[in-house]
Amino acid sequence: MDILYNIDFDIAAIVISLIAVFYIFSKKSLQKSSNGIFLAIILTGLVSAVADVCSAIANSRPNGESFAIQNLFNYLYLFVHNLLPYLILLYVIYIFNLTHYLKKKHYILITLPLATVYFFLLINTLTQLVFYYDENGIYQHGLLFPLLYTSAALYMLSSMILVIRFRKSFSVQKSAALLFYMIISVIPVIIQAMHPYLLLEIFCQSIGLMGILLSIENKDDIINASTRVFNRYAFLNRVGGALNVDNTTLLVIKLSNIQYYNTTLGAESMSGLLREVARWLDHLDSRLSCYDCDNGHFALLGEDLTEEQSRELKKRIFDRFENPWGHGTFLTTFPVEICQIKTKTVIHTMENLLLILDLPFEELNSCEIDAAEVVSTYQRRILVERLINKALEKKSFQVWYQPIWDKCSGRIHSAEALVRLIDDEFGFISPEEFIPIAEQNGTVIEIGAFVFDEVCRFYQEHVLSLLGIDYVEVNLSVVQCMNQRLVEAFDKVLTRYHLSADRINLEITESAASGNKYTLTESVRALEARGFRFSLDDYGTGYSNISYMFDMPFKIIKLDKSILWSAMDPKTHTGDKNAMILLEHTIRMMKEMHYEILVEGVETVEQKMLLERLGCDYFQGYYFSKPVPGDTFLDFIKVVNA
Ligand code: C2E
Ligand code: MG
Ligand code: MG
Repeated sequence: MDILYNIDFDIAAIVISLIAVFYIFSKKSLQKSSNGIFLAIILTGLVSAVADVCSAIANSRPNGESFAIQNLFNYLYLFVHNLLPYLILLYVIYIFNLTHYLKKKHYILITLPLATVYFFLLINTLTQLVFYYDENGIYQHGLLFPLLYTSAALYMLSSMILVIRFRKSFSVQKSAALLFYMIISVIPVIIQAMHPYLLLEIFCQSIGLMGILLSIENKDDIINASTRVFNRYAFLNRVGGALNVDNTTLLVIKLSNIQYYNTTLGAESMSGLLREVARWLDHLDSRLSCYDCDNGHFALLGEDLTEEQSRELKKRIFDRFENPWGHGTFLTTFPVEICQIKTKTVIHTMENLLLILDLPFEELNSCEIDAAEVVSTYQRRILVERLINKALEKKSFQVWYQPIWDKCSGRIHSAEALVRLIDDEFGFISPEEFIPIAEQNGTVIEIGAFVFDEVCRFYQEHVLSLLGIDYVEVNLSVVQCMNQRLVEAFDKVLTRYHLSADRINLEITESAASGNKYTLTESVRALEARGFRFSLDDYGTGYSNISYMFDMPFKIIKLDKSILWSAMDPKTHTGDKNAMILLEHTIRMMKEMHYEILVEGVETVEQKMLLERLGCDYFQGYYFSKPVPGDTFLDFIKVVNA
């Protein structure tokens, strides 16, 4: 009697598995899943489908030509098919990055059910406990056959639990897809238990695996299309799981000023060069994977490298970057910044990591940066940002005034308004520290508006003009100039306090010229038309762009204290001869150009006398007064200007 097994589904499974294998080999990016577990799963599925078909044919013709072949296929099927759930568990462990948590004993434990199944399969010819052939030669399940189901169930259940438990460390959507495909693979096992001749199991499994292949294993979304290594998204996914692990090696490699190269060499050549860099980094060490984290920043991530080996790697990278990279006719070197990161002790949070990854390149020479330092600077920055926001909310910023002495009249004729942040808990925070931060996060616009309002109010309320104060110097950040509504906003304040614009001198720093010159000039023109006057602040600290000075309507040039101090140190009253020549000539040159000269940082009478001799117009510095609160300033001028 022939038994009718339905092998149609198995044949379909073979076709699907073959398509999957072809797909994996045709897509280069898929081979990047270095682990190969997934390929092993697909191949196991293929072999078990073939073995299932062969054993089904052999089993359906009991006492056929060759019992040996029938037996062989049955064993082959059972050995290969039982391997599948085990491989799926390993696969889940791998893609969820759980390998760090597992020790050898865990792997032994994981292998135990499979080993038990294999043991009973190996001795089955003697015991006939798994399967046997009845007196008619028909294949029958033995007493221990349920053991196979138990082992498979254990593996599938563990895999599902892991997927659910760690879904967030991967991607919730992908975890859901994985779970869905697992369920699709499990349901037919139940159907087949009831209808043993309907060989549905492998077919459904292959459909499930195809789903995993197209959704999870499809690496298109995690490969950088241009450099062909893993992309930033892949890095963030992968590194999440590795953050708290001791043996992770993470090297961040940053190439300098990629935007600049992009514009000079062209985007196409640049992407060719970066591809070269990426390829070299990717092949550097088989234990490390290379990730392109955008903007010329790369990461190498791997496990189990000793200190010595990481040092050696860094050296090799530095050495390689000493030499040029080539693409087509282009040959160029890239300065590089390398940072080795101890993820467990330094990074703690993803935010810190992103910071080290994204912070632009600082030095022009290749160098090694210290992750701990970056993180602590960053934490301080976060604190300062918090204090700025708190002060803005509570309106607790203060404006202090530093008197400016006019040589001509011998009186205090103006003052510089300087913002102060004094926190209840952290005390005085220097504007040198918080203004650059406020410029970066944009809060300087609000701070600037507060200062301007406060100065106008103060000037009007105390009728400073009657106390001999012709105007107040207010620092204007270039970021404020980017604000299209600036003139409108200032205008409103002036109207509110019935103040004329020429009572305010806006100070713009020299380095502002290196920013967006067009917007700055436009804003300054509009402000000038409204009646404001301008001073150039910190002259001598940046790269003095003379043409920029001519474009702007500056009335006063404020020489930075560093120029004065190099020429005459406030403590020793000695100085550099060349610095003295520079000071003298700068003052003379500016005077000939009809600018008025103000020197900051005058701390001693000797410095004052020197500057008087050199023909300076205005003096500002501790010799006259430090910046003081408004009330103190009023008391001061009432006495001095009396
Ligand atoms: P700045 O505009 O060049 O201001 C002059 C700085 O030099 C002030 O520092 C002042 O206290 C200091 N200074 C003046 N004379 C002496 C002296 O004789 N010896 C010494 N050692 N220092 C002297 P401060 O107040 O710390 O301000 C630092 C910088 O912060 C300012 O430099 C300015 O760029 C910025 N800043 C201050 N207030 C504001 C503001 O309201 N808006 C903007 N955008 N920036 C501000
Ligand atoms: Mg200033
Ligand atoms: Mg200054």
